[in-house]
Amino acid sequence: MNNYFVILAAGKSRRFHRNYKKQFHNYKNKEIIDHSVEKSLNSKLFNKILIVTDNLNYLKKKKYPKSITIIKGGKERSDSSLKALKYLKKFKPKNVLIHDAARPNFSIKLLKKIIKNLKTNKAVVPIMSPNDSIKYKIKNQIFNLKKNDSLLTQTPQAFRFNELYNLATKQKNHISDEATLFINQNYKIKFIKGEKQNNKITYFNDIEISKTYYGIGFDIHRLVKNKKLYLGGIEIPFHSGLDGHSDGDVILHAITDAILGATRRMDIGTYFPNNKKFKNIRSPKMLKPVIENLYKSNFSINNLDINLICEKPRVSKYRKNIINSISKLINLKKNLINLKGKTVEKLGLIGKEKAIACEVIISITKYD
Ligand code: ZN
Repeated sequence: MNNYFVILAAGKSRRFHRNYKKQFHNYKNKEIIDHSVEKSLNSKLFNKILIVTDNLNYLKKKKYPKSITIIKGGKERSDSSLKALKYLKKFKPKNVLIHDAARPNFSIKLLKKIIKNLKTNKAVVPIMSPNDSIKYKIKNQIFNLKKNDSLLTQTPQAFRFNELYNLATKQKNHISDEATLFINQNYKIKFIKGEKQNNKITYFNDIEISKTYYGIGFDIHRLVKNKKLYLGGIEIPFHSGLDGHSDGDVILHAITDAILGATRRMDIGTYFPNNKKFKNIRSPKMLKPVIENLYKSNFSINNLDINLICEKPRVSKYRKNIINSISKLINLKKNLINLKGKTVEKLGLIGKEKAIACEVIISITKYD
């Protein structure tokens, strides 16, 4: 084993539009750079791992294992890469892999495949075929590039150290990857299949496309004579209705609370206190502003699951109508709503048909 792994992490993150660099953004429970650090360490394929960065002090505080060395980066990517090669020369490496910290999703399997191919090749570069059609601009003329003949190069890119060192030290222009040096000299590169997930994180949206949240809601109301029973926004024929400051619709109240919970906006009582203004209010009216706010804030509902806890009425008899009503009220497809009826073995107030309770869980996703 005489392999060295270089992680280039001196990028300025100009297109990331955050007040910190993307390589230090928390992604899948660790900083983006640490995905590359941990995978290269765990692969046990490398004598040394070299991180090139402008944030020396910050990274030194992380107390990486001894096989990791941190050096200061250069102005552009190719300057940092050259600095790494010059630093490594004294170790007389046979092979060197150069990797961009902005690609946290490569696999150890890919590392092994690259190293294996290096045995019989001087340069190994993972590639993907583009999904989009590509045009090429020379001065003011646009040319079509044949999609099937176009290659997108990924990192890590692997090289015989001496060959790469000789080319890199003679290079005068800035280059976007090391493969360019070999291609410019017409040197042979072994291209191997890269990994779809090994894409480069450039924009914040590349990683923060959506976030999913969950909320629960619970409600219970007493059943009283001479009141209409409303469940899920519709009237259900029954000997009693639900008592309360409003129409007592336990399903809609629990849904409203679940949404408020998922969006971390406290509870239904905060917005609809028991005062004169809301006396006898119908529950769809309480749900409406909460739903409107949800959709206005770029959330969408994934699904809604409801437990209606009562001895009677029988849920199976009204399930379709209740789901239809909820579907309209919250603008959600019927097949994403589930309503279960639970009896309580005639126990307690609910068992004696003196109360009805409801619990709801909702999943919502925010799209930025
Ligand atoms: Zn209620």
